[in-house]
Amino acid sequence: MQTRDLSLEQLQNVVGGEHAREATRQDAVDGVVPSFVARPGSVEEISELMRLASGAGAAVVPRGAGTKMHLGNPPHRAEVIVDMTRMDRVLEHAAADQVLRVQAGVKLDELQEELAASKQMLAIDPPEHGATIGGVVAANASGPLRLRYGTIRDLIIGIRVVLSDGTVAKAGGKVVKNVAGYDLSKLFTGSLGTLGVIAEANFRLHPIPEVARTVTVAVEDAGGAAGAARAVARSQIVPSAVELLWDGDRREISVLLESIPGGIGAKVETARFLLRPFGEVREEEGRVLPEMEPAEVELKVNAPPAELSGVIESVTGAAERRGLWVSLRGHAASGVTFAAVSGGGEEDISDLIAELREIRSRRGGSVVLTRATVGLKRRAEVWGYAGDAFELMRRVKEKFDPPGTMSPGRFVGGI
Ligand SMILES: Cc1cc2nc3c(=O)[nH]c(=O)nc-3n(C[C@H](O)[C@H](O)[C@H](O)COP(=O)(O)OP(=O)(O)OC[C@H]3O[C@@H](n4cnc5c(N)ncnc54)[C@H](O)[C@@H]3O)c2cc1C
Repeated sequence: MQTRDLSLEQLQNVVGGEHAREATRQDAVDGVVPSFVARPGSVEEISELMRLASGAGAAVVPRGAGTKMHLGNPPHRAEVIVDMTRMDRVLEHAAADQVLRVQAGVKLDELQEELAASKQMLAIDPPEHGATIGGVVAANASGPLRLRYGTIRDLIIGIRVVLSDGTVAKAGGKVVKNVAGYDLSKLFTGSLGTLGVIAEANFRLHPIPEVARTVTVAVEDAGGAAGAARAVARSQIVPSAVELLWDGDRREISVLLESIPGGIGAKVETARFLLRPFGEVREEEGRVLPEMEPAEVELKVNAPPAELSGVIESVTGAAERRGLWVSLRGHAASGVTFAAVSGGGEEDISDLIAELREIRSRRGGSVVLTRATVGLKRRAEVWGYAGDAFELMRRVKEKFDPPGTMSPGRFVGGI
């Protein structure tokens, strides 16, 4: 099989016979079936693959574990999948300095297990199991812990990437105090495979908290949810997470508290006191936070945290008026709410998205379509309005990837 001027044999010459194959329907990216899958084992092999592919005018889509390949616009083209799962080594863990250097194909779950032996963690908790570090960085993944530790963009301190012409670039390093030049690590965070292939990354680590408790309050209405979230987020107890669950009659705010054994009791007591005015409070050992169930259509509503009740009311109200059913989960004190939408057709859902985007354009924030059929993605536009930054983003893309080899079309505005 031949793609433009690229053959399977050429790819096999770079990565070895058993590490390149013809693609199948299972490798499709939003319905676009690629020609080949290649699994590089080193930075040099990625570089050689990129030179070959861009020289032949073939589009490349990097892939980690594939847990979130549905994010972004459908690609315009996708000839070669660069599968990063062979590059799965921890390169350096300086426990005393709390820093780490890993290859991009390392699985986050496995990494956390390894770090736990030194009582350390990479303080990021996206809901998917099996995701790779490269995928987490490329999609700027996060979870409930973002309230306390920030997102992966706040934890990354260095990166090694391969650009579409095969150039290997490195920025940052092993210390937290890197200041020289533009920060390539942050630019590649959230780039969704459109600027280059992330080969390695360095992170700062945190100690694993010794004890955890979850205090949950069952709230009456959206105002109660917002009030409870605000009360704990602004307090001195410094919660690690404040999570929303809004699913039929289950309406709760859960607060994750972490500390040393001697300090947890006082934190729990204060949380109970602050949450009591909003409803019935219960307490559980460890981390017991609501999880996102996979749904066919998912929206991510970003808004200032103070807008929480407005977000809940606008999403549930707009859905109800169209006969759609929604269930909400979210990082209540960080201003991130996920809506799982079911029922109705593509027209109803894109209508719902348009209404929510209109509200957010006035009140701050955005609505991103994080999971949907290709038909709905085309109808509703995945990212929404990119604002004044769009032209700048387009120029960044042009500088890093002039031939448009990397995941063409997936990013904001079809970049
Ligand atoms: C707008 C947006 C918001 C998101 N919000 C959240 C959130 O709030 N919480 C959350 O938990 N998750 C969120 N995610 C998704 C999360 O990032 C996934 O958990 C993660 O991408 C899964 O990793 P994976 O290894 O399975 O990657 P894959 O599914 O294989 O790949 C994901 C993306 O990264 C690219 N990619 C993979 N590896 C590399 C590499 N080495 N170099 C360059 N590109 C690569 C792929 O081309 C693809 O575009 C969000 C993603 C986006 C785009």
